[in-house]
Amino acid sequence: MILIRYLMVGVANTLVGLGTIYFAMYFLHFNVVQSNAIGYSIGILLSFSLNKTWTFSSQDHITSSFIRYLLVLGIGYAANLATVLYIYSHFYLSPYVAQAIGILPYTAIGFLGSRYFAFRTQGRSSAAENKLSNKAVFDKKSVTPCMVDVSIVVPCYNEEAVLAETTKRLADLLQQLIIEGRITPSSRVYYVDDGSRDKTWELIECLAETHEFVHGIQLSRNRGQQNALLAGLLSVEGEVIISVDVDLQDDLSAIKEMIEYYTAGYDIVYGVRDSRETDTFFKSFTAKAYYRLLGMMGVEIIYNHAEYRLMSRQTIEVLKEFSEVNLFLRGIIPQLGFSSAIVYYNRAERYAGESKYPLIKLISLAWQGITSFSSMPLHFITALGLLVSLISFLITAWAIWIRLFTDDAVPGWASTVLPIYFLGGIQLLCLGVIGEYLAKIYSETKRRPRYTIKKII
Ligand code: UDP
Ligand code: MG
Repeated sequence: MILIRYLMVGVANTLVGLGTIYFAMYFLHFNVVQSNAIGYSIGILLSFSLNKTWTFSSQDHITSSFIRYLLVLGIGYAANLATVLYIYSHFYLSPYVAQAIGILPYTAIGFLGSRYFAFRTQGRSSAAENKLSNKAVFDKKSVTPCMVDVSIVVPCYNEEAVLAETTKRLADLLQQLIIEGRITPSSRVYYVDDGSRDKTWELIECLAETHEFVHGIQLSRNRGQQNALLAGLLSVEGEVIISVDVDLQDDLSAIKEMIEYYTAGYDIVYGVRDSRETDTFFKSFTAKAYYRLLGMMGVEIIYNHAEYRLMSRQTIEVLKEFSEVNLFLRGIIPQLGFSSAIVYYNRAERYAGESKYPLIKLISLAWQGITSFSSMPLHFITALGLLVSLISFLITAWAIWIRLFTDDAVPGWASTVLPIYFLGGIQLLCLGVIGEYLAKIYSETKRRPRYTIKKII
């Protein structure tokens, strides 16, 4: 699979490189050497960025991996040239055949060199590796069965249709875990009513009367799932807190495995969807693309994990120190640190009622995730400003060259077109610089804790 990706990048690189050379020669009237230099540079930059992010999804530092990549390409080109010359002079084949054979060592060196030298730290199958490493550690540690005091936090917004069934299933689960001696008999469920407009709160009150383990927290108005969840996480007691949606889409039986991981020494256990079969194509495609985008922007996030997770008391105490108003919990939790594990589960259909996340709310949450954790869009403006400025300088140089050395100069063209590029570039650059400071101010105002101590002995 990685090899196929690498070859696809190679093809894209060749097409773009050749396209650029052609464009530079025929439209910009550059000579062969200049056109080739531009074409190769753009091709190498493109193949480097694609190979780094897509083929090998490497976390190496950009500059050092670029230098290593150039080295690999250099050796590859040398091998290519040597092969072509050798075949051409010894076997008297046509130059085209010699070239075609020369591509083989070039590709082999390029691929192996990229894989094992240029992009050393690769993280594509991190989910799968996590699965394995979790297992290994988990098997090694002797699990001493001890009773854990659990609180389950469930945010609810207009959920009267599912509450009764959820309570029934949670009751069965808790009872089973209590009988097995995994959790204390005082373990409980907290429904957080997020300002529902239907009979959700009345139902919670009623359930709290009839079931000892059911408790409720009522918010004064609808504040959204993230805030409702936080209210629950920060208000309830318990040694371990598990958050789960009320609509039974998250497989409750995974809770047992989460608690096993906790007793094996993990502080945070993420519930990760194994499959997205129940989602529409649109939802699963956009969700996957979004997780990848966040990853590319440097936001630490667990792939395919939503709000189904277990947290130890210690991690909850640390969470209290994050005082930001724009909440995106799935971004904050991995920042807490601590040892974590992953439990995989199949996501089911919603048991009843409708999704409380219409597209607009989903987009707003997605935007929250980007803007709360990444200043990349602001840095992007700076980079764009720099690029446009650079292009404007190149075009200026080109216009001067045309004016001085050819007869093709069009009067008035340079004085009209160049200021547009130049001023556009300068403006973008200035905006970008302002953005850079804004990014600093933004991260300062969030007042996130600068460090978290796990243990002092
Ligand atoms: N929810 C909430 N407040 C809101 C919207 C949703 O507390 O403003 C809760 C909802 O009751 C459910 C969870 O958040 O327990 C996830 O919502 P939903 O299942 O509708 O989202 P989806 O699974 O469709 O993404
Ligand atoms: Mg749901």
